[in-house]
Amino acid sequence: MKELLDELPDGVVVVGADAVIRLMNSAAERLTGWLRADAIGRSFGDVMPLMDAAGFLVHEREGAFAPPLRMTSGTPERDYLLKHADGTERWVAVRASYERDSRGRLDQIVVSLRDIGRRRRLERARADLVATVAHEIRSPLTSVKGFTSTLLHRWDRFSDEQKRVMLETVNHDADRVTRLLTDLLDVSRLEAGRLELRRQEIDVASISTEVVARLRKRDEAGEHVLETLFPDEFPVLLADPGKIEQVITNLTENAIKYAAPGRVLISGTDMGEYALLRISDEGDGIDPRHLPHIFTKFYRRGAGERHSGTGLGLYICKGIVEAHGGHIWVERSGPEGTTFAFTLPKEAA
Ligand code: ADP
Repeated sequence: MKELLDELPDGVVVVGADAVIRLMNSAAERLTGWLRADAIGRSFGDVMPLMDAAGFLVHEREGAFAPPLRMTSGTPERDYLLKHADGTERWVAVRASYERDSRGRLDQIVVSLRDIGRRRRLERARADLVATVAHEIRSPLTSVKGFTSTLLHRWDRFSDEQKRVMLETVNHDADRVTRLLTDLLDVSRLEAGRLELRRQEIDVASISTEVVARLRKRDEAGEHVLETLFPDEFPVLLADPGKIEQVITNLTENAIKYAAPGRVLISGTDMGEYALLRISDEGDGIDPRHLPHIFTKFYRRGAGERHSGTGLGLYICKGIVEAHGGHIWVERSGPEGTTFAFTLPKEAA
């Protein structure tokens, strides 16, 4: 029986009606950080302090070890914060079942504990996403609303030139909201493995030139000098033009956003079996501590950023490149600047 209990992935702790621990399995040892030799004979509250969401300790609650009704056979599963012997805390889902003697008196309680740290982290990430996205959408929408209502109410007071500037801002901010929503849809498609590629023959060199022209036209390059460099005989690739454009745009926008003003170069090299694309800037580089995480969803450099963003850009780039059978990585990053590189296989063409 004991061996069987030790095979279980969930922690099991048997507690007497006097709140003293009678038995625990290996999973419970791992979750609490107590060896059963030390834990057995001690009080439940010492070994596994469980706190509910309101901050109350379960074992201190009145009647915690005296189920109110004789018929009650147990408690439904609830989430608690468990304090590990090393002082750290983790979320566990806890369920108790009451065992009674022949006269119906409580004999012991079998408590099962399931580690739900992963589920909790996912829930947290989701809540964070909602907060970030709401924040990112609110600022362009505020400006759209502000300028349109100003124009509607005071149309005659502005010169054509002023109206034009306001409408350009509205137009630009509306595009920003659309891009954000497209990003979000891409993320959910990537996660469901439903990113659809409309492959056709594409010319990455002209896509890159268009990206540069568009960023310049929207006045988004700032003091950066955007350039492209492709050999005359650059291969035609079979890929989704919209998605590849999105990757190049994203990497170029990041270079503009995060690198100090300088040259931003989009270049292509024919590597035989695949094409290699690079986007390099002359910024300060990415802190090596952040490098392993930048392609992760929602990852942004530190809090209190001066640049807005959701941390979705590179995650989406990676998803798109990999869906095409390519790879994406940081080729170089240091005081001389950063180079992002990605490959697109040719054989499909
Ligand atoms: P976002 O731009 O929304 O923060 P990304 O996924 O596009 O999200 O980028 C993740 C992080 O990687 C950024 O927050 C930034 O710190 C870093 N980063 C990306 N590109 C560069 C770059 N060219 N130079 C320096 N840091 C960069």
